[in-house]
Amino acid sequence: MSQTAQQDPALLEALTLLLGSDTIPNRLNAQQSQALCQHLDCSPIELAERMLPLAASFSFAPKSNFHVGAIAIDQQGQLFLGANYELAYGPLSGSLHAEQSAIFNALSHQASALTDLVINAAPCGYCRQFINELAVASQLKVHFNQQNYQFSQLLPQSFGPDDLGVQSPLAKLNITKAEQAVDFAKASYAPYTQVQSAMFAYQGEQRLAWSCYIENVAFNPSISPLLTLLSQLKLNHLSLDKVERFELWEHKDNQFSFKQELENFAHHSNKTMVHYDYP
Ligand SMILES: [Zn+2]
Repeated sequence: MSQTAQQDPALLEALTLLLGSDTIPNRLNAQQSQALCQHLDCSPIELAERMLPLAASFSFAPKSNFHVGAIAIDQQGQLFLGANYELAYGPLSGSLHAEQSAIFNALSHQASALTDLVINAAPCGYCRQFINELAVASQLKVHFNQQNYQFSQLLPQSFGPDDLGVQSPLAKLNITKAEQAVDFAKASYAPYTQVQSAMFAYQGEQRLAWSCYIENVAFNPSISPLLTLLSQLKLNHLSLDKVERFELWEHKDNQFSFKQELENFAHHSNKTMVHYDYP
């Protein structure tokens, strides 16, 4: 925090003034981003670019030590921050990329259509494929290294959801009325396997964070509920110490399970986990 503050004291000061707190926010609503743009005399994209070090501060990268920040902007002008998250153990595939983290942050807060994605590094090929799952991919603008691109420039002649016959690509998660654990599992985006899976972190009966499964047409850039959940905890300034119990909720007919993945993590972090199969 202090290091980031030294880099852009004007931004930090404006944020503290506006939010009445010096905690780095993981998102800004439309009024907040407008007020900041006015105060700092900058455009929403410039604001997001200035906020990238704050987004990257949510990164957990014990393996690469490469801290990526990404910010998704929706049609209403809301900003959603995201950062990469790596598991400290196991193979390199145990990682969530910043773009995925920001997009899940937006989806989980029922963002309107995403218009822009601002990143502090070039998006890797894996993320370009992940982004291509979005219903808005063809209109999305991507900003990095002081350059602005239409997403289609970054992934020409792409393989997309329509190649596997998916008519409704990733747009919104159906969580408007979600309360019960199964409601979040049912909100999974899994048009290729119909798998329903959600994970939760609890402190006593308090739900600290949740996540659900998001799938990709190229399969590999699909994101696991575990990494998404850990990223959500980090974005909400919640340390693992607070978590007393992990829960995994899956449909009993799922063709695969995330149980092993969560079991491994629970074992490595000395936590309790509970697995539920629902009909
Ligand atoms: Zn990536």
